[in-house]
Amino acid sequence: EHYLEIKDLKVDYLHQGKAVSALAGVHLFLDQGEMGVLIGPSGCGKSTLMTVLAGLNPHYAGKAEIAGKTPVSGGETSLILQDYGLLPWKNVRENVILGLRFRKKSLGEIKQRVESILRKMNLINLAERFPSQLSGGQRQRVAIARSLVLEPKLLLMDEPFSSLDALTREEIQDFLLTIWQETHLTTLLITHNIEEAVFLGQKIFVMSSCPGRILEKVENPLAGNHD
Ligand code: ADP
Ligand code: ADP
Repeated sequence: EHYLEIKDLKVDYLHQGKAVSALAGVHLFLDQGEMGVLIGPSGCGKSTLMTVLAGLNPHYAGKAEIAGKTPVSGGETSLILQDYGLLPWKNVRENVILGLRFRKKSLGEIKQRVESILRKMNLINLAERFPSQLSGGQRQRVAIARSLVLEPKLLLMDEPFSSLDALTREEIQDFLLTIWQETHLTTLLITHNIEEAVFLGQKIFVMSSCPGRILEKVENPLAGNHD
């Protein structure tokens, strides 16, 4: 019994009236508290796998379970994409608060949680700024903060850093690693950057054929080392 279990997962898309296979039988297991990285060439179904886990794609065959349950959207899983999805007319603090407003929390509790996460992500000094006044790396930090404030049980990240320059990417990878070491939040991250995979992934899943089929699992003793 793994926290995250994917067994023989198959997804077809309909393209011009024909079924085209995007995932052709994938296995992937992750235990609670682990950081897994999924790496593989473009178009092999990595994002498709994420949409299934995020509960956004119910049209699959095989098994996909999180803590023994079928994935649902808006549940305890948080998905971060590379295009940030911040609301441009709200400042950093308001963007981070957003998700919490719709949950039954007292105002005091919301304020406390938001300030603590802003501090953790080094965003206090940027809290009054609007997304257009931030660099790419800063925006991505806000997106991560907005997810973490909801205290998800599973964090899914689909190529979160691919549009960032190398230095910014390293900095934000460090942030993510620090947060993960503090919280041991079960995380699955997609990348096609091999260095990122080796730096962040305790377990690295390699998708080695298209459509996605074979996944090799590599235990990675180098996670957390920059050299
Ligand atoms: P990756 O994330 O590894 O780049 P994707 O999951 O985005 O791969 O895509 C896997 C395959 O499924 C690709 O061939 C892609 O063209 C196809 N695909 C993805 N989304 C759709 C869709 N909504 N409709 C039809 N085909 C899709
Ligand atoms: P990075 O190297 O982190 O991507 P940038 O070169 O984009 O940073 O920006 C450098 C600094 O300028 C950052 O501290 C950022 O806050 C600030 N900055 C970037 N874009 C804007 C903007 N549109 N308005 C105000 N400040 C900005």
